[in-house]
Amino acid sequence: MGKTVIVGGGTAGLAAAYTLDRAGADYSVLEKRDFSGGRIYGKVVQNSALDLGAQFMFTRYATTFDLVDKLKAKDQLVKFRPWMGIYRNDYMSTFSMNMLDNLSHPIESAKGALNLLGWSGRLRAPIMGAKFLALARKLDFDDPLKAIELDNITYADYTRKFFGSEILEYVSQPVASTLSLGIPEEISAAYGMALAWYMAPGLLTFKTGIGYLAERMSEEVKDNLKLNTTVKKIIFEGKKVMGVEIANGDKSEFIEADNVICSALAPQAAVLLEDALPKSIIDVLASIKYSACTHVMFGVPGRPLGKIYAVATPRKLGLCFSGITENAVKASGYAPPDRGIIHAFTYADYARDMLNWTDEDIKKRVLRDIRIFNPSFPEPLFTEIFRWPEAVCLCMPGQIGAVQKLKVALREYEGLHLTGEYMGLPSMEAALHFGVQSGERVLATS
Ligand SMILES: Cc1cc2nc3c(=O)[nH]c(=O)nc-3n(C[C@H](O)[C@H](O)[C@H](O)COP(=O)(O)OP(=O)(O)OC[C@H]3O[C@@H](n4cnc5c(N)ncnc54)[C@H](O)[C@@H]3O)c2cc1C
Repeated sequence: MGKTVIVGGGTAGLAAAYTLDRAGADYSVLEKRDFSGGRIYGKVVQNSALDLGAQFMFTRYATTFDLVDKLKAKDQLVKFRPWMGIYRNDYMSTFSMNMLDNLSHPIESAKGALNLLGWSGRLRAPIMGAKFLALARKLDFDDPLKAIELDNITYADYTRKFFGSEILEYVSQPVASTLSLGIPEEISAAYGMALAWYMAPGLLTFKTGIGYLAERMSEEVKDNLKLNTTVKKIIFEGKKVMGVEIANGDKSEFIEADNVICSALAPQAAVLLEDALPKSIIDVLASIKYSACTHVMFGVPGRPLGKIYAVATPRKLGLCFSGITENAVKASGYAPPDRGIIHAFTYADYARDMLNWTDEDIKKRVLRDIRIFNPSFPEPLFTEIFRWPEAVCLCMPGQIGAVQKLKVALREYEGLHLTGEYMGLPSMEAALHFGVQSGERVLATS
């Protein structure tokens, strides 16, 4: 079977490693950071579980739950159908993802709907429902080609065309921005529609945070996982993989391998491969774009958002975040009962700018913006800030088609397997799915 090197011990890399490990293969995972898990990493600060990257899983995440099952971690899952708020006209419209909750609060739900949308939006809302039902079978995070007809139009243009500007600004944009940390002009209609469709049946997490999945996979592969190890180049002889070059102080070291699974982000993969692959392939990888997020987390006394899990804030408000969440309501293991954990997701150009701000300036700006709609928001007990220069792959118009061509072109290169969220509709599900798939491909070709 030979030796496999996995570049990156993040979401997809760990899934690939676990797949190889279960088959008894010879492999090693090289991770540049001092922690594994990538964008599903979590940590605990003052007894509060912080999800630094991904926040929840959708019930439709097939590969994710298959992995959870294999890891015997099903009993750690918690499903939640939370209350959400969207702020418009100085009013917080609240809705529950659980229809029964809405029915038992009819006045609150009706008032919310009336405040959120005027006549134009209200009349078009049923059209949106019908479109989702018509497209349902095509919206698949693991198989983006099913939605290829929605690849070449932005989510903004698609929404405006079929549902009108009001739904774009007060429903589609706040939801899509909270999930992608980009704006509807940057993402394809295929991705935007899939995000909204996947959200409807409810959300899941683990009792002690999303990072639990990264921890469990890391534990299984720990003997073959090397942290603080940066891969500089993937080495080929002709069209056959020979191994990787890693940084070793000022020098480089060569590690021989028959297969390389590269789970670095697309533009990073472009750099690792630029000496070996034709420009046409490198250009596709380099052109794949990501949102940024300066992710701000506050430990707070009490629960300042009440029963609400997520508040989405339409961009017309000019706030630096697309939304904030109260993570303590997700599961009881997140925080002590008298504490809240508020996450603010800065997005789009706000987030890109803030990557270079000081922690103090970021904290001040985020608190100022929260207090615009929640004036009594308390002084935080602690603040944690994590900067993601690349937060979520945006799946810009044309990406699905371009990645499909890339997959075909890569078949000529023996031993090279690219993986990660950008292979599907970007999400931890797609990362895990294509991670497992790359491991299976190595096993099948050896
Ligand atoms: C704030 C935020 C919120 C999110 N919310 C959700 C959500 O609620 N639900 C959801 O499904 N998704 C969510 N996502 C997206 C999800 O986290 C990602 O789509 C997914 O985790 C990406 O997995 P990946 O394997 O492609 O990349 P990663 O998990 O980032 O893994 C890539 C790894 O490769 C390593 N690496 C890169 N280059 C090298 C190199 N040269 N040498 C060695 N190692 C290298 C990196 O350090 C990293 O560990 C969110 C992301 C963020 C940032």
